[in-house]
Amino acid sequence: MKMHSYWLDTATPSGDYTQTEIPKEVDVAVVGGGYTGLSAAYHAAKAGKSVALLEAHEVMWGASGRNGGMATTGLAVGFRDAIKRYGEQRAIGYFREYNAAIDLIENLVAEHDLDVDYARTGKMTLAYKESHWAGLQQSAEALKRLVDQPVQLVDRANIRSEIGSDVYYGAMVDPLGAGMHVGKFGHELARLALEAGATIHERAEVTDLRRIGTGTMHDLTTPRGTVRAGKVIVGTSGYTGKPFGWMQRRVIPVGSFIVVTEPLPQVLVDELLPNRRMASDSKNFIYYFRITPDNRLLFGGRARFALSDPSQDRESGEILKRAMHYVFPQTRDARIDYMWGGLVDISMDQMVHAGQHDGLFYSLNYSGHGVQMANYMGKVMAEVVDGKPEANIWRDLKNPWIPGYFGNPWLHLRVGGAYFGLQDKLS
Ligand SMILES: Cc1cc2nc3c(=O)[nH]c(=O)nc-3n(C[C@H](O)[C@H](O)[C@H](O)COP(=O)(O)OP(=O)(O)OC[C@H]3O[C@@H](n4cnc5c(N)ncnc54)[C@H](O)[C@@H]3O)c2cc1C
Repeated sequence: MKMHSYWLDTATPSGDYTQTEIPKEVDVAVVGGGYTGLSAAYHAAKAGKSVALLEAHEVMWGASGRNGGMATTGLAVGFRDAIKRYGEQRAIGYFREYNAAIDLIENLVAEHDLDVDYARTGKMTLAYKESHWAGLQQSAEALKRLVDQPVQLVDRANIRSEIGSDVYYGAMVDPLGAGMHVGKFGHELARLALEAGATIHERAEVTDLRRIGTGTMHDLTTPRGTVRAGKVIVGTSGYTGKPFGWMQRRVIPVGSFIVVTEPLPQVLVDELLPNRRMASDSKNFIYYFRITPDNRLLFGGRARFALSDPSQDRESGEILKRAMHYVFPQTRDARIDYMWGGLVDISMDQMVHAGQHDGLFYSLNYSGHGVQMANYMGKVMAEVVDGKPEANIWRDLKNPWIPGYFGNPWLHLRVGGAYFGLQDKLS
């Protein structure tokens, strides 16, 4: 069994950027080589800016290379909760942004003929409890009425048309959700960024930052050299560290873990997820799953509230394997070929936060929903640094500091884990 991402194992990097010379001066420096950073670099370079992307490890090392590959519709919080918080019009706007984000991926794939196994097979939300099924029905009604979202409900009696499991009380299917090979997509984004004129620098962690005057110009120090940038876009997600303290205090990194089986017989795939939907359930300790392009079952979840490191990944992977056998007893004999984990960047309100602070531009806090949104926000932030702040719909959302949080996630993971576990039991 391999203890690293299936997606990175089955995709070829667009190049080796560990020796590239860091320029002395650029219009835009992008920090982070995930979707946010790669997309920002591509779109800013395409708009005529000189761009250097600085990545601490390798391109796609972070969450972008480790996720479920599910580009799903909808916010990280329920639509009805979003209406309660922000009112109908703003909630509709935020929701629609995710539809636009999937469209952007689809357009990029079509425009550049990208071979990234992109398919709009739909998203399915599964009710883990009877009370959750009632909630899903209300959400479906609101989504159809207010957003014109073409969601469909599948009750328990008919659930086998969507999933080979009797665990769930019903499903809401949204045909606008999509899946892709996230490793191939990320490496293609890097290639597009290079072709547009950006430079990429791996093993170039930004360890220090110095603001020049009171504007947006900064000197960024890396072990491979210092670059002066007119503007800086930070896309460091759950891996945000010390040089970006204000942002770090607003990101709780939470481990999410995945196991992937060996390729399964077609007849079993057709039983497990006959329509190859991107699926997730309604718990806080969420399970999510899909079929990979080569017919493996990918099963992920917040197995428990933990960070990600090799020992945590193995322990969490074992918990997930048991969960997978519970949901899909038919997979008991399937070999597990991959097991890994990564960090998602949760915010207090589980909303995206993007904008400008102390002369730095940033986009963070996708709260586990960044496959589509990070790529989209990279484009948006390229527009923002080009003088179009209105492109960023999230700019007026308050970005609350997590009380008492100074960047050590352990205590919050314990408290958060206990709280969300209790909610799952009581709901
Ligand atoms: C296991 C898992 C499953 C997920 N599944 C899904 C899913 O199915 N659907 C979905 O929508 N979302 C999912 N997500 C979330 C999604 O992957 C992320 O929201 C998204 O990839 C974030 O992209 P990003 O570019 O902002 O950050 P990342 O991809 O995390 O990239 C940040 C990069 O910044 C670099 N960095 C950090 N600090 C510095 C520094 N000082 N200098 C230079 N570089 C630095 C890091 O090395 C890292 O490579 C999942 C996440 C995980 C972990």
